[in-house]
Amino acid sequence: MAGARLGLIAFPRSRGRPVPAYRVCATFLPDGDQHRDLWVRDRRITFEPIDDAEDLVPRGRFVIPGLVDCHVHLTLDFAQSGLPPGSPELVDANLRGHLATGTFILRDMGAVSDATQRLSDEGRPRVHYAGRLLAPPGRYFGVQRDTPSEELVEVATREAKSGARWVKIIADFDESGDLLNGTPNYPQETLAAAVKAAQAEGARVAVHAVSPAGIEAGLAAGVDSIEHGTGISKRQLEEMAARQIVWTPTLVIAPGAAAMSREMGGERAERAVLNGFENARQMVPVAARLGVTILAGTDMCPPGSIWREVVALQASGLEPALALAAASTTARAFLGEPALAEGAPADLVLYERDPRNDPEFLTQPSLIMFRGQLIAT
Ligand SMILES: [Zn+2]
Repeated sequence: MAGARLGLIAFPRSRGRPVPAYRVCATFLPDGDQHRDLWVRDRRITFEPIDDAEDLVPRGRFVIPGLVDCHVHLTLDFAQSGLPPGSPELVDANLRGHLATGTFILRDMGAVSDATQRLSDEGRPRVHYAGRLLAPPGRYFGVQRDTPSEELVEVATREAKSGARWVKIIADFDESGDLLNGTPNYPQETLAAAVKAAQAEGARVAVHAVSPAGIEAGLAAGVDSIEHGTGISKRQLEEMAARQIVWTPTLVIAPGAAAMSREMGGERAERAVLNGFENARQMVPVAARLGVTILAGTDMCPPGSIWREVVALQASGLEPALALAAASTTARAFLGEPALAEGAPADLVLYERDPRNDPEFLTQPSLIMFRGQLIAT
């Protein structure tokens, strides 16, 4: 659905003719319970009333500061656009798909080229990008930068030095598709040294970790985020809460991941992966209770699918406001991005119906304003 919109939307220009001042009166998502006013002046949010401001129309009764997808791969073609993987054209098409659904901030969790790095921010959603996907030869799905153990520290350091905010390491794998029983990709000391080296250069480190052993390896190495974490345990979540390590469960990819495992290792592997996602679903409310930061990410779904992960998080027992926060304010706070705050860029998405009651309403915004510019939907 979102995929069909790819390419139809243009990136707005942030400069040009002056824009009027606007007033918005709506319930602030994800956790507000009554209408409040905010104003937009010079493309920024203010809470100081402006007398002659126009009402922003079409109105919406609910407002969110733009959605966030914390696990995407902009250089891969999950919308099946046919554009070449790794090309700047594909990255732009994917970014348009996100923008058209009010998704303004993305954490790219591993690339197959440096196309994302080379694009300007102007008019495009903000991307917190990782460098390449790092895994040893034969120990991922073939899209990695082949990085044997003896090169990991050097490559991770280089990625961080090149300006990547994140370094993404594939921590575990199983060639037979039984990813829940995957084994670590790197010796523990090597992984720990690579994490330390990247962090010393100012980057954060995310690991793809599905199996209990892979998650354990990531935690022992001191990573900043666990991606997928399908086989995660309560004890590991306790450790993450204590050390402020975040979790991106990507529940929404369960059917896709199961299909891949079936192709690799038949029904047994498929069943193992589905059981793993059942475990992850049960662990989501446990993680929330323990105080682990949960981020919403859609990984191999087409751009504009973040609402599906909000649905999945809700279905696993996360409170509606927390599930929506995982795709908005919680993610923004974690990434150091402002929300509905004085002086913040006017990133506003309005809805007529409360998406906490049904996250599918997130697909029908009444209005999208990105950095003070109205986006045609
Ligand atoms: Zn991924």
